Amino acid sequence: MSRRWDVVIVGAGIHGAGIAQAAAAAGHTALVLEQNAIAAGSSSRSSKLIHGGLRYLESGQLRLVRESLHERKLLLRLAPELVHLQKFFIPVYRQTRRRPWQLRTGLSLYALLAGLDASAHFGTLPRREWAQLDGLATQDLQQVFWYHDAQTDDASLTAAVMRSAQSLGAQLALPAQCLGATLGADAVRVRYRHEGAEQECEAGVFVNAAGAWARALAHCIEPRPAVPALELVQGSHLVYEGPPQAGVYYVESPRDGRAIFVMPWRGKLLVGTTEVRFRGDPATVAPGAHEVHYLQEVLRHYFPRFRDAALAQPAASFAGLRVLPAGVGHAFHRSRETLLTIDRASRPRLLSVYGGKLTTWRAVAARALAMISASLPARAPRARTDQLELRAS
Ligand SMILES: Cc1cc2nc3c(=O)[nH]c(=O)nc-3n(C[C@H](O)[C@H](O)[C@H](O)COP(=O)(O)OP(=O)(O)OC[C@H]3O[C@@H](n4cnc5c(N)ncnc54)[C@H](O)[C@@H]3O)c2cc1C
Repeated sequence: MSRRWDVVIVGAGIHGAGIAQAAAAAGHTALVLEQNAIAAGSSSRSSKLIHGGLRYLESGQLRLVRESLHERKLLLRLAPELVHLQKFFIPVYRQTRRRPWQLRTGLSLYALLAGLDASAHFGTLPRREWAQLDGLATQDLQQVFWYHDAQTDDASLTAAVMRSAQSLGAQLALPAQCLGATLGADAVRVRYRHEGAEQECEAGVFVNAAGAWARALAHCIEPRPAVPALELVQGSHLVYEGPPQAGVYYVESPRDGRAIFVMPWRGKLLVGTTEVRFRGDPATVAPGAHEVHYLQEVLRHYFPRFRDAALAQPAASFAGLRVLPAGVGHAFHRSRETLLTIDRASRPRLLSVYGGKLTTWRAVAARALAMISASLPARAPRARTDQLELRAS
């Protein structure tokens, strides 16, 4: 593989796969270097929601919510085997912080941003139907709102996007660890370890889509690019065996009011997530004992069957890392926008991806490609990513 590529991308997470798909669809040659496996990082450790993010309305992230809802609609059409609508329930108790009028306002705005189609409908569940809510605690329960959002299998979605990129001509080197890159006047020399040997290739543009490793990778680039102030925030989930649920429960942590999801997933129950500042090697991220207690507390509070010690132990757990803008205050309220940076305004050689959401990968990839297109040779486009179907296998 020692040749010149239009684009070399580091990372086969959702962003790396998405940018490879966008580049290949635009007719460019693209090589993806992945050190571990497709979706080995955060793209297999998310809450698996393709959603606008109702709670982002609270922090005024309207642009992000609108774009996410647009992408949700598109993915429901392009990837029906991988993305499906799911019913969400928001129970409101006497002590719930978000009051019914706030939820009604939020859901109305959410429906408006979703384009008021059938998936945007919401309402409240009649009291006689509360018994169908998987044993949800009903003491002090005042109302249960319902609406729709979408769920996916994040790792399978990422693999499907990667396959789509490959079907358009993108190449994947796996496992291949990028060791560094040197930005020249018109090309980038990329060094990587693959098949037991150190190798080199040339790229018109080098894309750093290394997720939680993006800062470490930036330190291996010459000349060293400026890196925005970022923080890694760990999020954990617990997995329980159990009967399928009626839908996703969107509840408040009784301890601090943070929104927590209790979700059906692959015939099991998934509860998450936490937010804990992380320092160290991203490869070592794992749920801490205090996070397990925090999530168990949520389950016990809302679903009394989990007060039984035998049922309280999860069958499995996992943790992933969010890349968020550094800042004071709770991570919960920080921007979930993807930050795309380039090394220079005209003819960039380096594009870096920081943070973002699984949901918006396609829109982000389209933006990324537009930002580097001046550095890429003219090619005949092969496809449009908003028309490419994604299959489960
Ligand atoms: C707990 C949690 C819950 C979330 N829930 C949701 C959700 O429900 N909905 C939603 O839309 N978003 C969600 N997100 C956000 C979403 O998961 C992430 O934004 C997204 O997966 C990040 O993808 P990525 O491609 O940027 O990074 P990653 O998926 O981490 O991919 C980076 C890849 O780069 C590779 N790599 C790193 N360094 C090198 C190197 N030197 N050489 C070669 N390869 C390298 C890694 O092995 C890895 O595979 C969640 C995130 C977290 C942490």
